[in-house]
Amino acid sequence: MRKITSLILLSVFVMLAAAGCQQPAKRADGSPLAVKEELINIYYLAGKLGMTVSTTTDDKITFNDTVNTVTILPKQDQIYVNNNYLGPIGKTKKIDDLLCVNSSIADEIKNKLPKSFVQKPAEAAPLQPKQQPAKSAWEPTGKTIVIDAGHGGKDPGAASSRGGNEKGINLEVAQQIAQVLRDKGYRVIMTRNNDEFIELEERAAIANRSHADIFVSIHADSSAKSNTNGFTVYVERSSSRASKDLASAIDDRMAQTGISSNGTKKADYRVLTHTGCPAVLIELGYLSNYWEAKQLKNDDMQKRLAYAVANGITDYFKRK
Ligand SMILES: [Zn+2]
Repeated sequence: MRKITSLILLSVFVMLAAAGCQQPAKRADGSPLAVKEELINIYYLAGKLGMTVSTTTDDKITFNDTVNTVTILPKQDQIYVNNNYLGPIGKTKKIDDLLCVNSSIADEIKNKLPKSFVQKPAEAAPLQPKQQPAKSAWEPTGKTIVIDAGHGGKDPGAASSRGGNEKGINLEVAQQIAQVLRDKGYRVIMTRNNDEFIELEERAAIANRSHADIFVSIHADSSAKSNTNGFTVYVERSSSRASKDLASAIDDRMAQTGISSNGTKKADYRVLTHTGCPAVLIELGYLSNYWEAKQLKNDDMQKRLAYAVANGITDYFKRK
């Protein structure tokens, strides 16, 4: 009998407590309540984007997938997506020492990511990490690099003998180069991160405005002869010693990818003549060549090229 009474009492208590947690969906006058703000911690936010948290300090939080980087600067109240300013963070709160932000930020970031690289969100990420991740070994180099994916938008560039256009391949490889460089501690600015048209002078101006240390433009070649092949690194005709050094450092690394080298050549491309810093333009290979066109679409080759260019850039800075 005693047991039943206490059970009844417990049930009544639970019901009362549950009622206390509920919130009315509408105000007394019938108008809906404002949408409740949902705060999520940065690990949950990264999970929603299919990314992994790589840096967490009081000053800076970053997360990445294979090609994108999201940077949150809590003290400056700023969010960057692939080094492009997205906007303020807005309302934040620290829960268990973890920064929590409004969940709507996930959609804002998603809208800024290049469409072809938006990854599937990971399985529901845990609200709290089991343990703090190890401190990242990432060290900033203090160098700024502008990576220019050639063509875009209404300007497709060369057509590939395997279908598709140069502008897409340029962007895919450029974004991978940018990611490898960011992992190495460089500040990377992309002239474009989407399929958009940008004037040649503006591409150079981006480098000049950002006081870039170097400018690297990514293209793919085409020829009337289908057997013409190989990559080529261009510098302007009256190029500086530094541009030539950069070209040769990249050439050395790219020659190890499986695509043969045509060496460094000179041409007065506007993106080279209008940039104030050392600048090179890389033709990755020939889209008119059946084998190279296939290679340039291949994930493994794209990765090899991205590392080759990034390692060439690192060699250049080391030799300076
Ligand atoms: Zn081109």
